[in-house]
Amino acid sequence: MNAPFQRRQFASDNYAGICPEAWAALQEANHGHARSYGEDPWTDRAAELLRDLFETHCEVFFVFNGTAANSLALASCCQSYHSILCSETAHVETDECGAPEFFSNGTKVLLTPGPNGKVVPAEIERMVKKRSDIHYPKPRAVSVTQSTELGTVYAVEELRAIWAKTKSLGLRLHMDGARFANAVASLNCSPKEITWQAGVDVLCFGGTKNGMAVGEAVVFFNRDLAAEFDYRCKQAGQLASKMRFLAAPWVGILKDGAWLKYARQANAMAALLEAELRAVPGVKVLFPRQANAVFLELPQPVIDALYAKGWWFYSFIGQGGCRFMCSWDTSEEDVKAFAADVKAVVAK
Ligand SMILES: *Cc1c(COP(=O)(O)O)cnc(C)c1O
Repeated sequence: MNAPFQRRQFASDNYAGICPEAWAALQEANHGHARSYGEDPWTDRAAELLRDLFETHCEVFFVFNGTAANSLALASCCQSYHSILCSETAHVETDECGAPEFFSNGTKVLLTPGPNGKVVPAEIERMVKKRSDIHYPKPRAVSVTQSTELGTVYAVEELRAIWAKTKSLGLRLHMDGARFANAVASLNCSPKEITWQAGVDVLCFGGTKNGMAVGEAVVFFNRDLAAEFDYRCKQAGQLASKMRFLAAPWVGILKDGAWLKYARQANAMAALLEAELRAVPGVKVLFPRQANAVFLELPQPVIDALYAKGWWFYSFIGQGGCRFMCSWDTSEEDVKAFAADVKAVVAK
């Protein structure tokens, strides 16, 4: 392995490894035999822990990744002639290779503009009202990302306003929660406040970026929508035969609150990174830093010099600028080392 991959980076929270709690649970699950395809005690326990976390009787499914979780969840909200409204920067639009359309047999994803990577009620209304004829794919769902692709977070009131709009227009509400934990940590709220108490029908809760090796939970608060979802998962190649190994890490991160501890850590490190760099000449913070991402506009020579120093980060995500993502294991030393390099490069 070459050296740069061994240092902790800011390219993405999926560059990080597996947190100790998820790892320990995997090891614990690795004893003897268990029933396959989700009929094991680990899967039951993980689903039970999620029901406890959300304080409601939701239906829970475990899949391998976020693209599948989002696509299958959205497919369960729509018919093929419907459409899904989301932000222009939504992962379901920009980073899933058309999977939401594919798994829903053609449901069209329609984009709405909005500030800071968000969907806003007025745009939902505009998209629904602008056409009502049979030639237009009928809007049936709204997809919001919490926290957003631009590192911002919907406040409880913002979600409630979206819900009021979706309810009045007969739309379902899907939440891409690849970084749901970071949103909860940022808002310091209970998970129910930003999900079913804000009208979310189905949440895709990300485990991968929260410290697991692999896996997302699809959580249906609207349990009618979960009908035959197991068949959707199977057909899409998302039914794990050794399901206990997808489920056990959830038990590991949920049972003692590690999921929230790590999200808080990631958010705190992003806050520190922002504080370190905000006042550096030539550096501009692009969006309100509310979760574990910091977006910066940097002069090209600075970008090049940082790459030359072995730092990895993306400069094409979202609406331009460079994205710096903190993960569950980002440390203060990591942030300080990176900030020192930025300052040194700028000073040259
Ligand atoms: C990472 C991510 C996903 C999941 O992506 P996969 O690579 O399919 O696991 C979904 N939504 C958002 C906003 C993400 O950042």
